Amino acid sequence: MQELELYEPTNTRKVFAEIIIPLALPINYTWLVPQHMLPIIKVGCRVEVNLGKNKRYAGIVKQLHQEAPEFFEAKEVLNILDVQPVVYPQQLLLWEWMSAYYMCTQGEVMAAALPAHFKLSSESVLVFNEEAGEDFTELDNEEYLVAEALLIRKELKLPEVQLILDSSHVYPVINRLIQKRICYVWEALKETYTPKKEDYILLSTEYSSEAALELLLNEDKRLQRAEKQMELLLAYLHFQKTEGEITKSALLKKSGATDAQLKGLIEKGILVAERRVVDRIKRGAKNIEINFSLSEAQTTAFEEIKTSLTEKPICLLHGVTSSGKTEIYIRLIEDYIRSGKQVLYMLPEIALTSQTIRRLQKHFGGHIGVYHSRFSQNERIEIWNKVKDGELKIVLGARSALFLPFGNLGLIICDEEHDTSYKQMEPAPRYHARDTAIYMSSLYEDCKVLLGSATPSLESYYNASKEKYGLVKLMQRYGNVEMPVLEMIDTRRLKPKDPNAAILSEPLCNAIQASMDAAKQVILFQNRRGYTPYQRCNVCGWIPQCKHCDVSLTFHKFYNKLVCHYCGTSYAPMQTCAACGSHDFVQRQFGTERIEEVLQEIFPLAKTARMDMDSVRGKNAHDQLIQSFEQLNIDILVGTQMVVKGLDFGNVDLVGILDADGILSFADFRVNERAFQLMEQVSGRAGRKHGKGKVLVQTSQPKHPVLMQVQQHDYDALYNDEIAKREQFFYPPFSRIIKLTFKNKIREVVQDAAQIFTGALSNRYKDHITGPAEPVINRLRNQYLMEILLKLPRNAKALEQCKKDILYQIAVLHQEPRYKSVTVIPDVDGI
Ligand code: ADP
Ligand code: ZN
Ligand code: ZN
Repeated sequence: MQELELYEPTNTRKVFAEIIIPLALPINYTWLVPQHMLPIIKVGCRVEVNLGKNKRYAGIVKQLHQEAPEFFEAKEVLNILDVQPVVYPQQLLLWEWMSAYYMCTQGEVMAAALPAHFKLSSESVLVFNEEAGEDFTELDNEEYLVAEALLIRKELKLPEVQLILDSSHVYPVINRLIQKRICYVWEALKETYTPKKEDYILLSTEYSSEAALELLLNEDKRLQRAEKQMELLLAYLHFQKTEGEITKSALLKKSGATDAQLKGLIEKGILVAERRVVDRIKRGAKNIEINFSLSEAQTTAFEEIKTSLTEKPICLLHGVTSSGKTEIYIRLIEDYIRSGKQVLYMLPEIALTSQTIRRLQKHFGGHIGVYHSRFSQNERIEIWNKVKDGELKIVLGARSALFLPFGNLGLIICDEEHDTSYKQMEPAPRYHARDTAIYMSSLYEDCKVLLGSATPSLESYYNASKEKYGLVKLMQRYGNVEMPVLEMIDTRRLKPKDPNAAILSEPLCNAIQASMDAAKQVILFQNRRGYTPYQRCNVCGWIPQCKHCDVSLTFHKFYNKLVCHYCGTSYAPMQTCAACGSHDFVQRQFGTERIEEVLQEIFPLAKTARMDMDSVRGKNAHDQLIQSFEQLNIDILVGTQMVVKGLDFGNVDLVGILDADGILSFADFRVNERAFQLMEQVSGRAGRKHGKGKVLVQTSQPKHPVLMQVQQHDYDALYNDEIAKREQFFYPPFSRIIKLTFKNKIREVVQDAAQIFTGALSNRYKDHITGPAEPVINRLRNQYLMEILLKLPRNAKALEQCKKDILYQIAVLHQEPRYKSVTVIPDVDGI
């Protein structure tokens, strides 16, 4: 915190900088720009500043102005870290909007937006205290060694102290030195981005003339005796001729030579190794290659989108599954980048598979950059810089890609716009990437947004129906492939003797067999992870729960463990019931793991695989599974949500939805919307290329309205039903929801806090508050939870006022000692 000091008005020509620090500070603070920095400081540059006693941070200059702070004297900016701004003004405006709209600080947005390596981390440095003098007689041996080094060097970093003492336990020594006032600790900033370097192998200049080289190869005694080295040298010369410059690792790999042989040539001064900075991001050729033409229906949609975007900045493309939306996007992207604009193409993280990436790269090669969570921080910085320079014209990325520094953005495509993973839940900023993208487009001149989905969110479809957005429909699949046929399997009528038949019913098994016989592939969808969601005592019904979260534990057979899916804690499987002492446990429900097992029993010859959060942990596991399925190395794929997202498989003719009842029983006002989206998307994986795709749905409610709507592929029916209910109960899109979550270790404290808070808000928002209530999962990571839901009119002014009131009440609550430790988390548009 800034110290309050009396401010004396002096020279009015002083320049001040408002600076964003990547912390949750309530406002941006102001620093003084020293005279000598005036010519070089720019908005958007990183600067080093002091905050508090001697903490240093790298902040970003938000604004330069001449209004001296009223109540304190501003400290000076210490350093300017960038010659050119790292962000554009549009981004600073975006951060400001996000912080206001999603109720967090600009610092929190900055922390999410910048690649970690831009943020600089603090590094402890020991600094010699000049006042200490040079009398070290009081010091013990170790202290003396460090003090002497400090006297000479004036500053030491921790690793250097470790070297001096030849030990990693240096803290006690350092502490004693600080107590004896020999030195103090300074937190310095350290740049953590490291350029990637690689060794290149070059021929020594001594042999660059042909004559010298010939002499070397034919006469040099040192080589005559070293046959292997001679071979390696010849291989090197060959690669150099055919491929140009070669790296050390490529040379060793291609020639099959050993490190020692190469070292021999280097020691003889024949070859030279040179370290060079290289790009982490492989660059393809920079050409655009559109080698397909749109179908008639696609062309019509394409033209309609273009017209629509001249009339309104936002357009919704409602195109059924496999209608060829991606091809339309590709043509649109082409138009924009040919006119010199940049394009951001957003997808849900899971849908960002190598399948999608390859599809785009095929057409746009080196113009396209990919940005997602599996990239290292170093790679992110390189993409960041290339987007900023305008070298990358297209970015394909998940939600965080919207933080990239586009200078000339012309189009944002938000594919699968209905997908809930566009909303970040944890931590702040809790933003919705689709909505943020829409706001972001308004910051650029003439920037358009295309939302695309086979199952639009009610919000977007409502906006389109109110003509706030343009709407383009594409209701046929590409190549006139039929929409998949859905059949219900009524599980109430089946009286299985075999427990496996409760998982895979007989009609479903027959259909799988038929697909196998026809050499087709099958996808089975189940919404749950794990072997069984829970173990249950067969005698008294007791279910093992997580000690921290009060959540039923999921049994993972592969690891032979009970796992809490909320906090990740794992437990040994239960042998004895904690309630009645019985040893008789049953597995009631079934997850993907159990399904795969049953499949292997029934179809021992089929190649099966499972795709869920557990089976695709590694960096590339998800992509590998998809490729393996694409290449027909898998017959039956069992999976959760992951199999749904935007995948394009040509050979799938059967999709099984194993537990529609589970999907229809989420406890949330969006349950029908979600269920429709999920089932329509899963169904969409069937029969994409050759038609006759079939979907079998296991359910005990075959006449459920949502199931009928999916069966008819009738989005409009779903929309009309749902929108009427939303209006009646004042849910979005008719209202805006702010959810407040209260957290504390003590249950009574959190309950009382939520109660008091509700009381305080009731004055103004009596008719808009639901709660306080304990959520279904009322404890997470040892913290008890309470929730308040505010359903507010969609009126910008009222909303702004309400946010202010909430922040004020949080401050009031925290003044009460009993509630100081209660965390209050506002989540705007959270559910
Ligand atoms: P969607 O994203 O709407 O579900 P896709 O874009 O994945 O649909 O298209 C479905 C399939 O049809 C893909 O295999 C795609 O390559 C193919 N396809 C779509 N349009 C064309 C076209 N104009 N020319 C050739 N193939 C196309
Ligand atoms: Zn837990
Ligand atoms: Zn029991």
